[in-house]
Amino acid sequence: MEQGRAKIEWAASHMPLLAGLRREFGREQPFRGRRIAMSIHLEAKTACLALLLRDGGARVAVTGSNPLSTQDDVARALAVENGIEVYARRGASPEEYTGHLREALAIRPDLVLDDGGDLVDVLHLDSMHGILGGCEETTTGVARLRRRAHRGELAFPMFAVNDARMKCLFDNRFGTGQSVWDAVLRSTNLLVAGKSVVIAGYGWCGRGIALRARGLGAHVTVTEVDPVKSLEAMMDGFLVAPMREAIQSADFVVTATGCIDVVSGDDIAVAKDGALLANAGHFNVEINLDHLSRWTQTTRAVRPGIVEHTLTDGRRVYLLGEGRLVNLVLGDGHPVEIMDISFALQALTLQHIASHPALPPGLYSVPEEVDLDVARRALEARGASIDTWTEAQRAYMSPDAA
Ligand code: NAD
Ligand code: SAH
Repeated sequence: MEQGRAKIEWAASHMPLLAGLRREFGREQPFRGRRIAMSIHLEAKTACLALLLRDGGARVAVTGSNPLSTQDDVARALAVENGIEVYARRGASPEEYTGHLREALAIRPDLVLDDGGDLVDVLHLDSMHGILGGCEETTTGVARLRRRAHRGELAFPMFAVNDARMKCLFDNRFGTGQSVWDAVLRSTNLLVAGKSVVIAGYGWCGRGIALRARGLGAHVTVTEVDPVKSLEAMMDGFLVAPMREAIQSADFVVTATGCIDVVSGDDIAVAKDGALLANAGHFNVEINLDHLSRWTQTTRAVRPGIVEHTLTDGRRVYLLGEGRLVNLVLGDGHPVEIMDISFALQALTLQHIASHPALPPGLYSVPEEVDLDVARRALEARGASIDTWTEAQRAYMSPDAA
């Protein structure tokens, strides 16, 4: 418990936006009498968000959003806090994982915070009513909400926090860019310089992962299905190729697409001997694990979180973190300062929902004033000041200007 508490205190001391909000929410109590259920990777930064919401007056129930990303020491330390209920365990079975979501929802929340869409799924499966609204943290979760809203089945308002400028520009790009390599480096202890790295997907996450791979001295190839993003990757100075071709000379493959079968059996059939396979996208579907096991003759654990697969023809490939989000399974996820920004956005969006309790069901964007408020706070925390328009400039730039 001491270690978990120390981790939470370390994170808190590097989260100036959350510290400021803790003071404000402590005074203003925006969540007085509200119940909030959160499903998100349960580690130290998440604990700081839960404590902020608690200090804002809420009763808070927390569970994880991935069976392998919960840090048990942090979960234990958080569970002794008044006003926080914790339901999560690293290594939870699929049934336990869903059971934990239901236990968190047993507080009958007014507000929910989801990361990937599993909590919202259970709310709909169980026909739970009375939700004022909630926030979704990640790209795939927003895609799931969009599909549900399109079918006319979204039962309450949900805000696409992922799509706010202050989220995807920083968390998905710089957060994933750094934390993926942090996890790969600490788990493999291998050199990246001079190696061949293949990044699947050149969206927000892929751009960050490719950028940092280049910074480490890798030769980077991007695989994409979007022709515009492929061209962008080329003009950013990366090679572009189909996975089937790129994997043949890849030392490291990192997927970040939100799609299935990005590394398929046919790709594994031609992978370079010794290739390391890691995923940074939602859940464990980007590297096809069934196909991998069909090609596999024997497996052995070679380092914590790394399994060597000796294939039927004698080649070996190495799977990191069971094909789940490598940065959270083999690392601590995004750096503290990044989660400070993402979680300030979450907290202020939840405050917005709490103060607009009669919104109709649907998928909402984070209000621009909330996005800008977080940007200003982040600049201020870094001691930076910027220009503002003069009245003459504002008039000149106005859409109504002649
Ligand atoms: P994005 O939509 O910006 O980018 C995804 C890219 O993948 C798109 O450019 C798309 O064209 C491409 N793509 C889709 N299918 C592909 C395929 N079969 N082969 C190659 N490219 C393909 O999304 P994003 O914000 O970059 O998020 C990507 C995934 O990572 C999502 O599942 C998201 O939830 C997850 N995510 C993870 C972390 C983390 O901490 N690991 C952080 C943020 C988001
Ligand atoms: N349930 C899905 C969700 C994808 S997680 C899954 O486990 O596959 C991707 C999200 O994790 C990102 O949007 C990012 O904001 C969040 N994240 C990254 N590092 C984190 C950290 N240290 N603590 C909490 N959340 C983190």
